[in-house]
Amino acid sequence: MRICIDPGHAGRLTDPGAVSPFTGVRESDVVLSMALMVQRYLQAVGYEVMLTRTQDEQSETDDLSYRTNLSNSWRADLFVSLHCNSAGSSSAQGYEIWTSPGQTQGDILATKIFNQVADEFPDRVGRTDYTDGDPDKESRFYVLMYTDAPACLVETAFISNEEEGQLLANPAWQDRYARAIARGITDYVGGLSI
Ligand SMILES: [Zn+2]
Repeated sequence: MRICIDPGHAGRLTDPGAVSPFTGVRESDVVLSMALMVQRYLQAVGYEVMLTRTQDEQSETDDLSYRTNLSNSWRADLFVSLHCNSAGSSSAQGYEIWTSPGQTQGDILATKIFNQVADEFPDRVGRTDYTDGDPDKESRFYVLMYTDAPACLVETAFISNEEEGQLLANPAWQDRYARAIARGITDYVGGLSI
């Protein structure tokens, strides 16, 4: 089983993604840290895991097609992109999982991850769209449209919210989140427990 994990943003130091106005923590750093944790959990149960970037300075990752081509040429079985959300209002909070429009394998993957995150964090808000019968939201995000593998994008929490921004900066919380995502992936594949 080959899993491609995509820590969003970075590429150039000029794209930190969203930045917490409270702590200064950067989305690009949080999601890289979490991606490395997801990788460790999945490798421990025998999956092959590739990250689309392993550092901040990979300039080629500025081009999203680099990330999707990497996943496709590696023939990944699953693709999961990690992000932190941000809003003008500091009261916005919660997690979202996105897929491309329509019912695909990505929707099944997204639901498995959503359920594990909801189980791990009953105190956090799941921001859902059940109009198509499942909790994920749908959009034509580039990395969801151009990956061959079933794909989803996790907006882990709002870095622009004071409480969630502090949680996102906490390695122990990151690790719980990473384990929940890894469990969602193994639930999708079927079998192995983490
Ligand atoms: Zn992002």
